[in-house]
Amino acid sequence: MVEPFSAVIGQERAIALLRRYLGAGAVPQGLLFSGEEGVGKEKAARAFAAALLCRIPGEDGACGSCPDCRLVASGAHPNFLFIAPETAFLKIDEIRALREELSLKAFSDRPRVAILCPADRMTPQAANALLKTLEEPPAGAHLILVAHRSSVLMPTIVSRCQRVPFFPLAAGDVADILSRHPDVEGEHPRPVILLAARVSGGSPGRALSLLPELAEERETWLALLTELSPAGAVKLAESWKGEGDTPGRMAAPLSLVRDLSLLSSGGVADIMNEDLREPLASAAVHPPANGWNGAFRELLSISRMPPQQQKRLMLEAFFFGMHGKG
Ligand SMILES: [Zn+2]
Repeated sequence: MVEPFSAVIGQERAIALLRRYLGAGAVPQGLLFSGEEGVGKEKAARAFAAALLCRIPGEDGACGSCPDCRLVASGAHPNFLFIAPETAFLKIDEIRALREELSLKAFSDRPRVAILCPADRMTPQAANALLKTLEEPPAGAHLILVAHRSSVLMPTIVSRCQRVPFFPLAAGDVADILSRHPDVEGEHPRPVILLAARVSGGSPGRALSLLPELAEERETWLALLTELSPAGAVKLAESWKGEGDTPGRMAAPLSLVRDLSLLSSGGVADIMNEDLREPLASAAVHPPANGWNGAFRELLSISRMPPQQQKRLMLEAFFFGMHGKG
């Protein structure tokens, strides 16, 4: 399928800039799509490349049905190249092959477009070869560099490109994108999607990768908070040992204890885990010694602690405290 511009959510400024390039018929030969990983740069690069190759592009980019669009959709357009590193870094051979391809006579009268994704993982030799290509690009060739960390690119490469900045998305946009994602649709309840969106730092890609873990954490903590099992608490606290303290790790327990605190004080609206209202309402009437609000404050301060070992001990203490054995 050929992506239209409207498939890129929440990046209106970047898309407006790309539309202006196309509308003016003045598309730079070097473009740098910069911004956090997972905010839509690759999707936008694919949509833009398709619009460049399309014979009758419209306001929303490629038409999706002309012969060139059909070739792009089947992944067989001879003027379109998508370069991803075969190993950890793009190597000089890959850039040399790209240069050769770009300097061949173009198929039909269409431009040639190459996307390098990600372009911030390149050996110094490859970067130098790329710089040469950017300094003397073959006629009708366009290079789109997709970079999650443009600060690691050589300044000479950056200065040869027009920068198209991408920004973190609003949590609501992230949640919308997640809900429509084929891997997510119908798989996760809305509260987990919202949770992932909130802790994603505005990156749908990151939200997507955090989702399974958040769902699992929520399950585990729900069981612990509603059954209050000391053995389970120790096991959970131990799982914090070593690495793996991802940004959203405390988000699920915090949301549950927050809901318990609200429910125990008679709040009925504004529950985050709406799908778990019943088990939470039953647990809310059995508060720990310091009350659910006290538990929430304690958990909040633990979540702000620096990671790992200390946090594990504090979580253990937190649970034993809840049992009145601390
Ligand atoms: Zn078309």
